Amino acid sequence: MDAMLDYLFDLGEAHRILFASLFFILGVCVGSFANVCIFRLGEQISLVKPRSFCPACRTPIHAYDNIPLVSYILLKAKCRACGAKIPQRYFWVELVSGLIFSFLFIYAGLTIELIWGFYFITSLLIVTLIDFKKMEIPDEITVSGIFAGWLFAFVFPEIFNEVANKSGLGESVLGMMTGGGLMWVTAWLGDKIFKRESMGGGDIKLMAMAGAFLGVQGAVMTYFLAPFFAMPFGLFQKWVKKSEILPYGPFIAMAAVFSLFFGDWLLGVIISGSSG
Ligand SMILES: [Zn+2]
Repeated sequence: MDAMLDYLFDLGEAHRILFASLFFILGVCVGSFANVCIFRLGEQISLVKPRSFCPACRTPIHAYDNIPLVSYILLKAKCRACGAKIPQRYFWVELVSGLIFSFLFIYAGLTIELIWGFYFITSLLIVTLIDFKKMEIPDEITVSGIFAGWLFAFVFPEIFNEVANKSGLGESVLGMMTGGGLMWVTAWLGDKIFKRESMGGGDIKLMAMAGAFLGVQGAVMTYFLAPFFAMPFGLFQKWVKKSEILPYGPFIAMAAVFSLFFGDWLLGVIISGSSG
């Protein structure tokens, strides 16, 4: 076993490319499942039954027409039975998931962080697309995501590298409370000030999930960064589309991904800026 691990961690260039391609294919398949989640959780349909069908004509989709990326191209983005257009989203979500997984492999190597990061980012991608479309964030993703974050932290405390001496689960639970708590207070204040519901329970649970994955520091950073991501979209919505309605989940998701990859760097910049 050790010999095998040594072998895997000491990959040559050719192996690295091979693994990156394998993770791309795996990511594409997960993206295909993410598409199912985006459609079915948005429409309140069970994730397992019935099997894949065309939303336009309800004809079940054959396995050979359900190959991620490939079928979309071969079918020229049309249902084989009724000719209804298959939304571009299906193709892009699969492609982006594949790229994320192979990128994470190059970034993290064959580590538990690879699986952890992929679970987290895929969940955020699903939430983002459902929230943009339906203005809601499904508990199926966020609540199960909180438990997944705890489980990862409990079994692999090393994912929180800055808390090597503390309990991983403790950090994850504290992160969840920090993220969820900050968002809950914000929602409460928003309701008082604007006299209408500004943030939903879905946003609170999403921030709680981000905290469960990123720990306390990551939760605080995500909370403070999200408005910076939301601002340009909000201004666009107000001036171009003349609408004040904007989902907030996608910006929590963007801020969480930013914190995941650049959190330590940003913290370094802030600390060196404030001390010098
Ligand atoms: Zn059809």
